[in-house]
Amino acid sequence: MIEANRQGDVWVVAEQNDGELHDVGLELLSKGRELADRLGVRLAAVLLGAKVDSHARRLIEHGADRVLAGEHPDLAHYQTNPYAKVVARLIEEHRPQIVIFGATPVGRDLAPRVASTVRAGLTADCTDLEIGEHVEPGTKQRYHNLLYQIRPAFGGNIIATIVNPERWPQMATVREGVMRMPEADRSRRGEVIEFKPDLATEDFMLKVLEFKPAVRKVNLKAARVIVAGGAGVGGKDNFRLIWDLANALGAAAGASRAAVDSGWIDKDHQVGQTGTTVRPALYIAVGISGAVQHRAGMSEAKKIVAINADPHAPIFGVAHYGIVGDLNRVIPMMIGAIKKRV
Ligand code: FAD
Repeated sequence: MIEANRQGDVWVVAEQNDGELHDVGLELLSKGRELADRLGVRLAAVLLGAKVDSHARRLIEHGADRVLAGEHPDLAHYQTNPYAKVVARLIEEHRPQIVIFGATPVGRDLAPRVASTVRAGLTADCTDLEIGEHVEPGTKQRYHNLLYQIRPAFGGNIIATIVNPERWPQMATVREGVMRMPEADRSRRGEVIEFKPDLATEDFMLKVLEFKPAVRKVNLKAARVIVAGGAGVGGKDNFRLIWDLANALGAAAGASRAAVDSGWIDKDHQVGQTGTTVRPALYIAVGISGAVQHRAGMSEAKKIVAINADPHAPIFGVAHYGIVGDLNRVIPMMIGAIKKRV
């Protein structure tokens, strides 16, 4: 069992696969930096893989003070058992007070294993993390500098703040794209602690014979302009209008869950709580009502334009510009106007 250690560092568990560093680790360093500065402790990144030394520098440039870099030839691809064993051992040895993982397929598999090994709590899919006070209602016990683990609950209808005062470290997974990617600062200096994970053959229950990465159909996170269609588009054939407007603007096509569930567009295009979180320069929401779960993924776009037949649709509450009208008339007019200008 881990004893409470309120002086420990803040850790981000970074991810790589087959030598490629995943963006989520860099994004989490921006929030990790904020938390570590608030607590007056160091920010460390943990990175495991077959060859990780070149990534350690990048992690430092993105905010880490130190990198715990574990190299082992069989850690090139993620495997639950050996990864969980190494991360749990590191936690027991170094006693961080906060450990953050990406809520990626890897993080969602790894974090619960590690949490159960070190007997810590874990809040999944956080959308924000803050440091704050907590008074236990029954005992009136006061806790300082706890990690507020903030996430939507009850289908996104409330935002819950979860604390974990008894079990340490405090652990959370954070959704990809929710934290801003920090700028690399090439002048940052940090410490790289290299170690050889002590793993035996029996720790590897699987042998990876071949690795075929799934190719994402769209990279919404990188798109500067997104045209997203919702249930109001009315059908798969009519979704052509969304693609046409997106093509005219050189934009990516996004969608609400209703459009994805109807089979009009692939799930990779879904924006929102259970889709991708985006921050484009321009987001055009077409026939999307603006449910809280959709807004969770797009409300930080720099400019939002909403096109909806219903003047009371909630999407107008977050839109900078609104067009009340039938999308079947509005979109062809927009495409015509764009084509006239180019
Ligand atoms: P609707 O709510 O049906 O809205 C359609 C809109 O189109 C209406 O506002 C209507 O006025 C307008 N319209 C209709 N015809 C026209 C026309 N001719 N011209 C112009 N406007 C028109 N949703 C997401 O999007 N992303 C998520 O990640 C997500 N995750 C979820 C997670 C959970 C746990 C739950 C419970 C729900 C989640 N949802 C998510 C679903 C969400 O609650 C809504 O059901 C969904 O966003 C509604 O999609 P929509 O706005 O396209 O459809």
